[in-house]
Order: sequence, then C-alpha cells, then structure tokens
Amino acid sequence: MAVPNRFLKDVFVDALDQLAEHIEATEQGERPATGYRPLSQLLDGLQLEQRLEQPPVSHAEFADFLSGYLSHSVQLHHPFHAAHQVAIPDTASALASLVNGFMNNPMAIYEMGPVGAAIEFVVINWMLKHIGWAQQPRRPEVGLEHGAGVLTHGGSLANLTGLLAARARVAPEAWEQGVPNDLAVLVSPVAHYSVARAVAILGLGERAIVHLPCDELGRVDAHAMEQTIEKTRACGRRVMAVIANACATATGLHDPLRPMGEICRSNDVFFHVDACHGASALLHSDTAHHLDGIELADVVIWDAHKMLQVSALCAAVLFRDHRSFDVAFSQKASYLAYGRDAESYDSLPRAVECTKSAMGVKVYFNLLLRGEHALGQFVADRYAMGKTAYDCIVARDRFSCPYVPETNIICFRIEGDDQLQQSVRDQLVAERTAHLTTAEVGGTTYLRMTLMNPLTDVEAINTILDMVEQKADSLLTSTQTSPRLAS
Ligand SMILES: *Cc1c(COP(=O)(O)O)cnc(C)c1O
Repeated sequence: MAVPNRFLKDVFVDALDQLAEHIEATEQGERPATGYRPLSQLLDGLQLEQRLEQPPVSHAEFADFLSGYLSHSVQLHHPFHAAHQVAIPDTASALASLVNGFMNNPMAIYEMGPVGAAIEFVVINWMLKHIGWAQQPRRPEVGLEHGAGVLTHGGSLANLTGLLAARARVAPEAWEQGVPNDLAVLVSPVAHYSVARAVAILGLGERAIVHLPCDELGRVDAHAMEQTIEKTRACGRRVMAVIANACATATGLHDPLRPMGEICRSNDVFFHVDACHGASALLHSDTAHHLDGIELADVVIWDAHKMLQVSALCAAVLFRDHRSFDVAFSQKASYLAYGRDAESYDSLPRAVECTKSAMGVKVYFNLLLRGEHALGQFVADRYAMGKTAYDCIVARDRFSCPYVPETNIICFRIEGDDQLQQSVRDQLVAERTAHLTTAEVGGTTYLRMTLMNPLTDVEAINTILDMVEQKADSLLTSTQTSPRLAS
C-alpha cells in the first residue's frame, strides 16, 4: 500500500511540534538529564523490532515511537548535561540540517551541489581569515600564495587528511610506491586517539609515533622538543610532522603553539595543529590568546560541531599554503579544486569522501542568523563559565582540581579513590540525574565537565556538585556497611 504524501506531511508537522515541546521541557529541567538505558532494555522498551513488523504505523503510533525516541536520547539541552564536546546545535544550524535533508545536494562535485560548494568556499575562507591566512581566490591564480581547506565529516577524518598532506610533503612517492619505513610523527602522549589511528591508517604503523616531552598535565615542553627532533633524526628517521593539541581533549589545556611553530620552522618540519575544540576561540578577543602562534601551522583542524554550535558533523582541515594540500591525494600539484574549466569548486580531489553533505551550510546558517560576534561571545562565555566552575569546585572542602581550566573543559575530583570517581559518574548517568564524563590526567581518574550548554550556569554547576557529593557519600556508606561481594 502506497503511503499518501499528505499523511507523511501531517506526521512531519506534528513531529516538529513534538520535538519543540520536548526540547523546551528539557531546557527547563522538567525531564531527566539523560536517556541512558542498556541496549536490551531499549530494544524491548521502545519495541524497536516489533514496530517494523507491520508498516506503515499509524500517525498516533509514530508519535508514540517518537516520544520514546526523544526521551531515551541523550539530552544535550538539559542544564545538567555537561559530558562530551558535542555542540548543543543552534536552531539556525538545525534548520540547515533540515534543509540539507530535503535538498540533499552532495556537493563534492560542483555540479551536484553548486550552492553548497560555493558556501563551503565562503566558510573555508572565513576560517582562513580567522587563523590569519590568505583566503582562496575565486579563480586560480598562478604564483599567488594563499590558504586552502576542505570540510570533512568529523575531526578524525580531518586529522587523517592533514597527516596525509604531511606524508606527501616528506614522502611524495608514498602515494604510488607505498610508505617508507623511516617516518616519525612527534606528538604529545595525550593527543586524541584519532591521531594514532590516522598514523596507522596511513600505513606508517603506530611505531612511527614518538612522544614529545610534556609536563605532568600533558602539555608539550617546547624547549625540550628540539632535542626530540634531533634525536629522532639521529636515529635515521625522518620527522613527518609535529602535532600540537589546541586544546587537549581530556583537559582542555593548550600546547604552546608559538614556540612549537618556531621550532618547526627552523627545523623544516610540518606543523599540524589539532584545534578541533579550541579553534573557535579565535572568534573572541578574550579567548584568542590561547591560540597565539596558530598561524605558524601548516595545517589546522577545526571542528564546527564542537564550539560553533553546529550539529554533527562538520569539521575543517585548513592549510596555510594551498600547495601543501594539492599534493595530498595525488603526486601532481595542480589547481585541482577549481575543476577543469576553472569555473567551479570541487572538493572531490581533496577529500576522502565521495558523497559529501553540504556541511558548510550549517556553519553558514549560524553566521547568517546569529552572526560571528554572537558565536565568539558564546565561546568566551563558556570559557568564562569554566573558570567559574573551577571557583565553585575549589571552594568546597572535599573537592579539588588538577589545574585552572583554560576552556570549558574542567577536571575535578571528590575525596576518595579513582574507583569512587568512576562510580559516582556511572550512577548519576544510570539514574539520569546528570551527565558527566571521567578523564585520566597523569594516571589519576578525574570527573570531567564540558560546559557546552549555555543553560549550565552557576546554579546548575552547584547542583551538579551537590549531586556528586551526595552520591559519593552514599557510595562510601554502602561499601562500609554492606559486606563485599565475593569476587
Ligand atoms: C574531538 C576531537 C577530535 C575528534 O574529532 P571528531 O570530530 O570527533 O572526529 C580530534 N582531536 C581533538 C583534539 C578533539 O578534541
């Protein structure tokens, strides 16, 4: 039986209402802070398999399903959601996702999505400008030095793309001949795991990773870095890239970009800055100093779906010199991006993806409907709230922080061992009262808050800390009074 279009349109309009009501109630704290349930409970509770037995479901059955879907999802909009580095999407960016969902212009080839491609051109240039690099011209111009970039489905893919270009610079023959075995990638031991993966995927083997000297919080010691480059070279290995964190995922702390960049320059080493989380801080004068020296990079990774309030996925890989990008996916350097007639703008020759969604539209809608100033203000506000949270935490006797936060990522601990931190977090999530994460810093487990939600204010932070304290107390009493289970 064909489903009439009218029916689907009614379902659609009602679903939008249901979604709006759900988000509003969540924002007011009227619903649980997370929807976490174990897999089999979800499969049964939402009857995910049974519902497919007799399609199509009725309008009312769909509304019932959607209600369950919404309430068992992770509730990013809840003020007590302070877990992962996932943007609470601005309505403008969510609207772009909806428009993309209908128009579905996969724009890696200009012909299949000309406006999406033109918007990607604008968004890449906007990001290049904020890093301090020359923007791409509308048409290729031989001899003109300028930046370049591409939007990818996520920072992990962007890291891979950046390192692919680094490989092409040191070992251009690798594209056709395979990978030589003397390449080294120098990186802090707390780099995001996608870096080690990218190194392995590129065929270097994880053994190519050489750890840079760091302080106890995992920040690169730039003064000791030059020695590591020299030692690596003395062992007969070529340094393919040095990677800096801006900022580190676990701690939100930044590596010293300027001294690292200067050492890379003077040693002729490719400098890759993983600024997935931190690059958006370029948009505000209160926060941009964390990225001082970023313009010395050869490549910068910038996730829009973290601090630009854009729904997943949308990441950028940005190059200071377009020529270092043009060789990434081929041995030949040419103006691949502008197509044969130099009248278009293709990302296909410079991206892993073939079908690629018009991701730039999500950034563009935020810029269009909110404006660059508001986006920068959001970052500055959340980073300031990180400091406020720190003050709230250290004001409590039983709490401590390993460092003063630089961003909206804060690690802290309540008196007790590593297991206590983990159990507190697991129980809060299981009880759906607050959503935090844990992180390991210098071998110790900490509770970790990422303040992505503009509704997480001082009051919300103090309530979360109260909950942590109560949970820790009840866990400590229950282990003292109840006999331990035999293992
Ligand atoms: C989040 C993050 C990544 C991974 O980005 P995805 O978009 O999740 O693939 C890589 N590096 C750093 C520093 C990050 O914070």
